[in-house]
Amino acid sequence: MLQVTKRMTFAMSHRLTGSYAGACQNIHGHNYTLDVTLRSMWLNDNGMIVDFAKIKAHIGSWINQHLDHHTLVRNTDHELKGFLKAQGSEMTEVPFNPTAEGMVLWLSGVLQRVLDDQVAEKGRIVLQHIRLYETDTSWADWERDA
Ligand SMILES: [Zn+2]
Repeated sequence: MLQVTKRMTFAMSHRLTGSYAGACQNIHGHNYTLDVTLRSMWLNDNGMIVDFAKIKAHIGSWINQHLDHHTLVRNTDHELKGFLKAQGSEMTEVPFNPTAEGMVLWLSGVLQRVLDDQVAEKGRIVLQHIRLYETDTSWADWERDA
């Protein structure tokens, strides 16, 4: 098995809601780093799993459209949604508390669909691992089960 990893970055704001009580209930932002690892059993005619530029073009573009300089807002956070809408501010609504763990689980589905649609060459390339750094010292991982 062969793997490649592409690192991408984005700035995003969020806040945690529900029963959570702590510093992250305040609206704040992070400069996230996302490592996306793809695997394949064999290489293409160019000796690649996939061109890094192609990963950036498709997954990077999805990140720019949905996460970069957006607020990730929980669908039950009506107060924040209303405020952002009134401001005309970019937001992406999700059905979970926007923690790093929640995000990697969500991204595993979303990014696999982006790959299937635009990159994967009918199943040759599989999303294997996602690591999302919220800070230099805090991150969450999703790994495909063997
Ligand atoms: Zn945070």
